Amino acid sequence: MDGGDESAVGAADAGASACQPCGAPAPAKPRKRMRPWEEPGFRCPYLDTINRMILDFDFEKACSVTGHDFNVYACLVCGKFFQGRGTHTQAYTHSLQESHHVYMNLQDGRTYCLPDGYEVVDSSLRDIQNMLDPKFTMASIDTLDRVPVYARGVDGSDYMPGLIGLNNIRHTDYMNVVLQALARVPPLRDFFLLPENYAHIKSPLVLEFGALMRKMWSPHNFKGQVSPHELLQAIMHVSGNRFKIGTQADPMEFLTWLLNALHTDLGGTRKRGSDALERNILPQVPLITCLSKFDGHTTQEMMNGDQRRYKLTRLPKYLIVHIKRFSKNTQQEIEKNPTIVNFPVRNLEMANFTELAPDACGTPTKFHLMCSIQHDGLPEAGSYRGFVHFRANDAWYEVQDLHVNGVHPQLISVSESYIQVWRAADD
Ligand SMILES: [Zn+2]
Repeated sequence: MDGGDESAVGAADAGASACQPCGAPAPAKPRKRMRPWEEPGFRCPYLDTINRMILDFDFEKACSVTGHDFNVYACLVCGKFFQGRGTHTQAYTHSLQESHHVYMNLQDGRTYCLPDGYEVVDSSLRDIQNMLDPKFTMASIDTLDRVPVYARGVDGSDYMPGLIGLNNIRHTDYMNVVLQALARVPPLRDFFLLPENYAHIKSPLVLEFGALMRKMWSPHNFKGQVSPHELLQAIMHVSGNRFKIGTQADPMEFLTWLLNALHTDLGGTRKRGSDALERNILPQVPLITCLSKFDGHTTQEMMNGDQRRYKLTRLPKYLIVHIKRFSKNTQQEIEKNPTIVNFPVRNLEMANFTELAPDACGTPTKFHLMCSIQHDGLPEAGSYRGFVHFRANDAWYEVQDLHVNGVHPQLISVSESYIQVWRAADD
């Protein structure tokens, strides 16, 4: 399908240099005929036809004609994707039909002028290559939570990398809030910002999750929004449509599934079931009252009449708190408990709810809130939005699909919070 573009160049220059048996001086060797693009200092005349406003690499990278996803090029003039670049391929044909000449390989970012077939090497393409494949270094990752960056999209709008809106494809707000929450957990985020950590793992879920994390933190986006479309496709496939575009689902179930699926695909083992935290916190005010179930004294009666007491046996660096709001009534209808839960956004003291092992001496027991997800509306309809703390400028933002707005922390601490992610205060 591909290649064959260089072979024609040498054919016309072959021959005419055979040895002369008569001893006569050999005729002057004809100079190799240079194509314009072989001349030194040549610059592709079509670079100005590139239209950055319409370039979008968030969707499935498949040929718009054949549907194949191998060896696909983006026409940088109209934004459509085509397969191959050799003679008679889709990209080649498109270049002749539409007089669109500049094509970027969506795998490696190399760019070609068609139908001539020469490679375009020009530093002006760097921004598009960076958008296609955002790259990070340990040094650049180190500054993410300390130095706020203001980037500018091609339409002139400003955005902050890490505070990126996510398209709601159709009833996918429950996935978006979870992705927004996970995007701020440093060990998880930092691992996925470096593709060398997982490029060898043949898991579309892992690869697409990594690609989305890199886009969400990239200062090279052309706009302050990203579509999680490719990751959602992988999620639908891997989850057997348990989580799918077009059908609202529970973000807590999705969060649990996603973390387990990523963990398994990355070679993790199944161990230690989820702790009792997510099943037993009942919505009460304030949060500290909900947590009293883990004080080691309060008893809880189980379905079979057993009495149980709970205490946390360890405090991880990151704590996910699920405030159970939805339950089925006797008619199997889902009911929502709308109780408002009060909580501090900083210095939540967990010391009373844990009995740490002796070797855990020095473990921090205070936690700061990183993210809170809340549900608005009726139980089976409604929508999800998140409040996220952006560490680089120590500010709070409300994120709901495409919208990212600054918000006062006071508003967060009295919300109908559903899922919270906390970090140890010393992290
Ligand atoms: Zn085109």
